[in-house]
Amino acid sequence: MKIAVLSGKGGTGKTTVSASLAYSIENSQYIDCDVEEPNGAIFLKPELQKTYEVKVPVPEVDSSVCNGCGKCAKTCQFHALAVIKDKVLVFSEICHHCGACLIACPVGAIHETERTIGMIETNESGTFLHGRLNIGEPVGIPIIRELKKRMRDEGLVILDCPPGASCSVMKSVHGCDYCILVTEPTPFGLHDLKIAAELIQKMGIPYGVIINKATPTEKIIHPFCAENGIEVLLEIPFSREIAENYSKGILPAEATSDWKTKFGEVARKCAIQGREGG
Ligand code: SF4
Ligand code: SF4
Repeated sequence: MKIAVLSGKGGTGKTTVSASLAYSIENSQYIDCDVEEPNGAIFLKPELQKTYEVKVPVPEVDSSVCNGCGKCAKTCQFHALAVIKDKVLVFSEICHHCGACLIACPVGAIHETERTIGMIETNESGTFLHGRLNIGEPVGIPIIRELKKRMRDEGLVILDCPPGASCSVMKSVHGCDYCILVTEPTPFGLHDLKIAAELIQKMGIPYGVIINKATPTEKIIHPFCAENGIEVLLEIPFSREIAENYSKGILPAEATSDWKTKFGEVARKCAIQGREGG
């Protein structure tokens, strides 16, 4: 059972929720797909013992074969190639590894070489995984792909997705059984929630909402969810105690058994709804 946790923007409590779910269910697997800023390890404190480099193919031009025709540069949708004075320049940092230039070259002057863009770290048992994209690298999808290859087929898997509604989010969510959208009761929170909900709806995955920093008078998220038939799975209150624990790397589910029970119930409910298809 694969549950993806996402939010329209960073800082809404997505990692608090996903790490708390993983913490509350024994032997679950937690995968941090937020490869630009993975911070699940701060809360779950795994003993990271294995590291794998993630490499991507990038084109290399054999200048003794190249005739300077420029077809490769015209083909590249990402402007990662330029031909200047019959010489091909490769800007490998913005290459999206699509391989189109290799096909376009009429004389076979391009071949692929490898470049490291980041890494994956796991604990011994493989119950915790996170990826880390090297600074300055534009595309984290190959790291997410490598993380997902290590996803378990059995038991509960929690995927902590990148923030927003980008290709990286879609890559993380693809193939999941259920999605939890984490939001805050503010106009910005509602705006981002609508975008995330639309995306998940189009992907045909059942989903529910968790409201973080909820107040008793909250009148923004509930009406939207009620109008659209979206279940509010849990509300995490705006609380000084929770914020203080967060700053010390302590999850709500770790701080009290009550929260552990609540997150465990949410995880089980999502698993049932995911199995039933919503
Ligand atoms: S592999 Fe694709 S993105 Fe990279 S340089 Fe070639 S055409 Fe451009
Ligand atoms: S398509 Fe091939 S031959 Fe033409 S400029 Fe590019 S590498 Fe050189």
